[in-house]
Amino acid sequence: MSIARLAARSLRSAAPRSAVARSLSSRPGVTMFSEEENMVRDMAASWCEQELKPHVRAMDTKGEMQPEIVKSLFDNGLMGMEIPEQFGGSGMNFTSACIAIEEIAKVDPSFAILVDIQNTLTNNAIRFWGSQELQDEWLPRLATDCASSFCLSEAGSGSDAFAMQTKADLSADGSHYTINGTKLWISNSSEAGVFLVFANADLSKGYKGITAFVIDAKTEGISLGRKERKLGLRASSTRPVTFENVKVDAKNVLGEVGQGYKYAIEILNEGRIGIGAQQLGIAKGAFNATMPYLFERKQFGTRIGDFQMMQQQYSQLATEIHAVETMMYNACRMKEAGVPFIKEASMVKLYSSQVAEKVASKCIEFCGGVGFTEDLMVEKFYRDCKVGSIYEGTSNIQLQTIAKLISKEY
Ligand SMILES: Cc1cc2nc3c(=O)[nH]c(=O)nc-3n(C[C@H](O)[C@H](O)[C@H](O)COP(=O)(O)OP(=O)(O)OC[C@H]3O[C@@H](n4cnc5c(N)ncnc54)[C@H](O)[C@@H]3O)c2cc1C
Repeated sequence: MSIARLAARSLRSAAPRSAVARSLSSRPGVTMFSEEENMVRDMAASWCEQELKPHVRAMDTKGEMQPEIVKSLFDNGLMGMEIPEQFGGSGMNFTSACIAIEEIAKVDPSFAILVDIQNTLTNNAIRFWGSQELQDEWLPRLATDCASSFCLSEAGSGSDAFAMQTKADLSADGSHYTINGTKLWISNSSEAGVFLVFANADLSKGYKGITAFVIDAKTEGISLGRKERKLGLRASSTRPVTFENVKVDAKNVLGEVGQGYKYAIEILNEGRIGIGAQQLGIAKGAFNATMPYLFERKQFGTRIGDFQMMQQQYSQLATEIHAVETMMYNACRMKEAGVPFIKEASMVKLYSSQVAEKVASKCIEFCGGVGFTEDLMVEKFYRDCKVGSIYEGTSNIQLQTIAKLISKEY
């Protein structure tokens, strides 16, 4: 008799039939959502349809976001998903944030990265490690009107992020720090009202000097460099941010001095699931933009979606999309359950970016010549997905993390 049957038999003998049925059915699939989570999905999808979709192509072409659409994200609670209601946030869970990111990425991955960084990196870092004073000051704003950037990378420190050269010097009286250095490729820096900045407060201690600061973007000495001209995510601002003798009160240190490297690692572990949500949204967005075409377009007197070779390919893609969805929401549930999820988060980041790229590329092929033009959105998804294998840890870095954790298991 199988172990499952044995378990079922012993359960039945110990509990009435209805209780067994309840306990056996009490674990929903990871892609089955609560009523609240489904409401978030419906709300985000309808927001995208009405507020975002009509403007996506124009914003991509112009290379900037319309401020009123960013404001609308706040008005609809999408920028403070996990911020508690007492601070004006939506008081939802991590899964809900990822659902929102996925839905938005289906329509515009640039907006998805804005929502992703806000919810999975900045808001959560301040919630987890910010003093009461920092939380009182920033959480209500982050939930209602203040976008944010996560400032870690520098010209000489990308994958090797902790080799950063940005310095934070403590004043003699211990009241403030002076920050000098330049951060590179900072997403959402045009829109941000606050920066979460990693700087080394004691270079002699190496990475153990790294300290995180919450800095008002209007602080004197901060300047933004030229917008990067990018392959994709063109509406998303990516700019260098320079700190020149920027004076920051010591109370703006996030958590403890010298713990910044730990906070960066921990928050990026979670952030990788958010990038997985973005990549899943991209894959689904490309697929959804393509499939109707396959059943409209006829060649040789047959709908192209009915050719067996086409069927094989889109069935394969749909299967891989489902695999990403399952992995990503499983990682969400693991995080929420408080069990280790670092390996799974890296796997999600790695695999979701591979699948998004494959799906977007194949979808262009499925649409033939028109897929290569701006008539369909597929070419944009193809451009937008590429960075998924680069930011928040390149694919090699994810493989390294996965390998490290696997080697500990044997
Ligand atoms: C559009 C965009 C938005 C971004 N937004 C932000 C942001 O908001 N905030 C922020 O801080 N940063 C941001 N970044 C920076 C991003 O996180 C870095 O680009 C990324 O971490 C890679 O660093 P790098 O570009 O210096 O590449 P490198 O680290 O120089 O890597 C180059 C290549 O070498 C490989 N490599 C490096 N080290 C190893 C190793 N040990 N083993 C094997 N292979 C290795 C990499 O996998 C990669 O293929 C953004 C980047 C882009 C493109």
